[in-house]
Amino acid sequence: MVMKKEKLEHIKEIRGARSLYGSFLSVTLIPLVIFGIVVTIYSSLTLIRDVQTEAENNLKNVSLTLSEAYNNMYDGDFNVVIYGDDIDFYKGDHKLNGEYDMLDTIHDSAGLDISLFFYDTRLLTTIKDSEGNRYVGTGANPAIVNDVVANREGRFYNNIVINDEDYYVYYLPLMSNDQKTCLGMIGVAETSAAVSGMAVKGVVRNMLIMLVATLATALIIVHFTSGIISVIKKIMRFTDDIARGDLSTELDPAVAGRSDELGEMGRLVTKLRGSLRRLIERDALTGIFNRRYAVNRLTEYKMTGVRYSVSIGDIDFFKKFNDTYGHECGDVVLKEVARVLRESLQPYGFAARWGGEEFLLVFDNIEGERAGEITRETLDNIRAMEVRHEDMVHKVTMSFGVTESDKERTMDEDVNAADVLLYEAKETGRNRVVSKKVEV
Ligand code: GH3
Ligand code: MG
Ligand code: MG
Repeated sequence: MVMKKEKLEHIKEIRGARSLYGSFLSVTLIPLVIFGIVVTIYSSLTLIRDVQTEAENNLKNVSLTLSEAYNNMYDGDFNVVIYGDDIDFYKGDHKLNGEYDMLDTIHDSAGLDISLFFYDTRLLTTIKDSEGNRYVGTGANPAIVNDVVANREGRFYNNIVINDEDYYVYYLPLMSNDQKTCLGMIGVAETSAAVSGMAVKGVVRNMLIMLVATLATALIIVHFTSGIISVIKKIMRFTDDIARGDLSTELDPAVAGRSDELGEMGRLVTKLRGSLRRLIERDALTGIFNRRYAVNRLTEYKMTGVRYSVSIGDIDFFKKFNDTYGHECGDVVLKEVARVLRESLQPYGFAARWGGEEFLLVFDNIEGERAGEITRETLDNIRAMEVRHEDMVHKVTMSFGVTESDKERTMDEDVNAADVLLYEAKETGRNRVVSKKVEV
């Protein structure tokens, strides 16, 4: 299965066995294939043995059934009358030579060959030569006659050649009714080709089942592995974006929502992005947005056509404040001023430290007049602010210049326009807001 190609332009692409994907597949698929082969071989050997045992039992049962049938049909013992080369075979006083109805029926229905022997001589048989003549008068192997007739014991052989064909044969001794003498034997035979045909069928079925099961398992493994790798690649891409400075990149929510280690890894990288963002976008002293952030946001607004107003504010007589109460106290005031500005701007936009004791207020989608009103309310909040430091309470005021954006101007020109108005506020007595609508 080919993995969905995911391009990671800035990340070294690792392929083949060295990749995590390759390793995952090696540790899962190789043992799976070995397991499949071992199980197939073991189950096939067991199956071949079972088929042979079943064939053996079947031949034995048929021979016993036949012997029963002869006993039921004809009273008396098996016996022979020999004259010259001819042997007549009897059960009681019933002559069996040429009586093939029962034997041929079994042969035709069960595919088995049956022979009746007087000692080693085949007197009746369903086996025929190539011209259709019954294979009578031929001899059985002396060793078999010795095993079965002399020892009076039924036995199975899997290597008998009759008429140039290999057979599995069960030989049953033909006993007298009093079980004292043995006159011959019944041989029930099945061709080795038929038995091995059954075994081969079973083995092939086994192999097919194993193959399908192994393939299905392999597909599940590949699918699962591909899923994991795709999640890892998403985290890699997210990390790569951050490494290249794109802090607005987002992690796929499906990855961030995972409850496993990969989800945790994704969440950690997201936290890392948050920390970097704070370092880059926030002012170290006050914790509010810094000038870089404000410039980026305004540039973005200009590019996307978002309308805004800006207000630039400067603390009044701050140099003197520092000189009187110390730089450290000045820092405390800056932090408090920043907090009040941030809270006052929260519903309308954001506040940023523009530099020193100057702050920029940005109003999203708010025209200049309304921005002026909000700035006045904000100045009221600053006036009401009381800063405690070393058992003293300090109060400060600020001056603001407010303007709304003009699509004919650059972002810098918008801020400069506000700066001009701030200068005007300073010149006309400080502690005030000067706002003007843009004259078009
Ligand atoms: P004006 O009303 O005209 O603004 O008078 P001002 O004294 O505030 O004049 P100006 O704005 O030029 O003064 C800036 C002062 O702000 C100078 C510096 O001591 C102080 N300042 C700038 N950054 C910091 C800072 O990070 N901490 C402290 N404590 N003071 C700072
Ligand atoms: Mg200043
Ligand atoms: Mg000042």
